[in-house]
Amino acid sequence: MAYMALYRKWRPDNFANLVGQDHVSRTLANAITSGRIGHAYLFTGPRGTGKTSTAKILAKALNCEQGPTINPCNQCEACRRINSGNSMDVFEIDAASNRGIEDIRDLRENVKFAPVNGRYKVYIIDEVHMLTQDAFNALLKTLEEPPEHVVFIMATTEVHKVLPTIQSRCQRYDFKRITVDDIFNRLKTVVADMDIEAEDEALRMIAVKADGGMRDALSILDQCIALSEKSLTIDRVQQLLGLVGKEWLDKLVTGLQSRDAAQVLTMVDEIIRAGKDLQQVLGELGMHFRGLMIFKAAGLVDGVDYYSQENDQIKKQAAGFTQEEIVWMIRRIHEAANEVKWSPQPRIAVEAALLELCQRDVLMKAAASGETVVSHQPVEDSRIAQLEAKLAHVMGLLKNGVPAAGGNGATASPDAGPAVAKTAAVQAKPIQVAANITGDGMELWQKTLEHLRVTGKDQVLACIQNCTFMGINSSQFVLGTPKGVIKGLLERLYRKNIEEAFNTVSGMNLSLFCQEVANVPEPDPGAGDIQEDVPPPTDDDFGISELEDEAKERLDKAVDVFGDGFVHPEELE
Ligand SMILES: [Zn+2]
Repeated sequence: MAYMALYRKWRPDNFANLVGQDHVSRTLANAITSGRIGHAYLFTGPRGTGKTSTAKILAKALNCEQGPTINPCNQCEACRRINSGNSMDVFEIDAASNRGIEDIRDLRENVKFAPVNGRYKVYIIDEVHMLTQDAFNALLKTLEEPPEHVVFIMATTEVHKVLPTIQSRCQRYDFKRITVDDIFNRLKTVVADMDIEAEDEALRMIAVKADGGMRDALSILDQCIALSEKSLTIDRVQQLLGLVGKEWLDKLVTGLQSRDAAQVLTMVDEIIRAGKDLQQVLGELGMHFRGLMIFKAAGLVDGVDYYSQENDQIKKQAAGFTQEEIVWMIRRIHEAANEVKWSPQPRIAVEAALLELCQRDVLMKAAASGETVVSHQPVEDSRIAQLEAKLAHVMGLLKNGVPAAGGNGATASPDAGPAVAKTAAVQAKPIQVAANITGDGMELWQKTLEHLRVTGKDQVLACIQNCTFMGINSSQFVLGTPKGVIKGLLERLYRKNIEEAFNTVSGMNLSLFCQEVANVPEPDPGAGDIQEDVPPPTDDDFGISELEDEAKERLDKAVDVFGDGFVHPEELE
């Protein structure tokens, strides 16, 4: 039987199994029962929270042969056709790839005709905020006087980009992030159904990592199961997600509590040797301190941490800091996470931040009195002295020129000298952009997918179906990946499979580059859009090759630690 990704298999098919959005299903059910069907709905909320699934359920509820009903049967022809995406009356439009005025004009022509089989023509417009201004205006005309038999359901993750005039004509439903508990319970049902043993803590960890999105949770579970055979343990999931682990965190917190800079730096070294991603390390540390902050403020442990905490222990840790200290430290960790994104030496940014956390009293006091911060603490060994000198230099550069995260267009402050300005310009360019991609290679990519299919790499395919091929340059082929965990999984687990397949069918020797995009666009053979988004090529590669070497070195270290089998999942297949 063909492999079916878990998130497809477990996609909710009626209001009853739509998880975590009771307020939405209740209101929609009321509208259906009372026959008050609106002509335009706007579903907003984070990705993976059930917007398009709900749109399809609503379409079935309206067109089911037994309906209109709040319990579509999922058996009749209308339901089955909607489920399989080939209904003549329900149209799913991805605004990310059909964003122009022509597409909406076609739609306007089309809406006039009566439905073919069902009661309503339902237009589901996903990522509606991606429409161009002209397309929005054209859509607005249709929304002003919709024919009786037409229902529009628009879904978006970025509602602020939808014109207010459109919003005002829609019934708006806000989808919430799904709680860790709700996701956890769903995952428990799924593993029970698959007859897989899973530790609760392991499932919890996945639920936290999914950050409110059920689709992500199921995708992660899919990957974890593929690599864990019949039992899913917390160690395995921790490894797979690249988490640093509770033990390390607890030890680090102890080090910070006693202001033991030497110990803290040694621990950073350990974690880098283990090949962990520094962004991830800071993320976990931030979450841990958030837990301490909430405990201190409210005296309770809230569930949004990777590791379930024992009250005694968290009490002990929280007692070692004042509330002000914790808040200050969270801010500093957050800053460091931004610096890591931009710094050519992310390690130093992390070490600097942790050293500052150790010296928090001096720094907080100085900040309160508005003094310039110069640390006069005795240096504990020569290594720290060296590091601090390096740090002062790097921090100087960072403070003078590097924009906050996402501030791609920012430049150095006007009074900065030319040397600083140059450095800032260099650093302001996102380091990881694959320059110079052309839209070529679509055919090769199709062949690559086919190759993966015939060689039975179903897990790889399941993972990359969330991505879009964006093109190639002289050394890379580029995949657009959604924000979040998919990119990490691809890079950590499937890079080798994908590169092998691509290079086999193309006869080239390119490496995979994953580029996070907010909304994965459809491939565009003309490639006009893609090139607009990528900064023009420059004569200097900004040390990218050096960074690649560093990444390779880290990967090698990871192989040392976790063994080759961890990195190349095909050995388990
Ligand atoms: Zn039906």
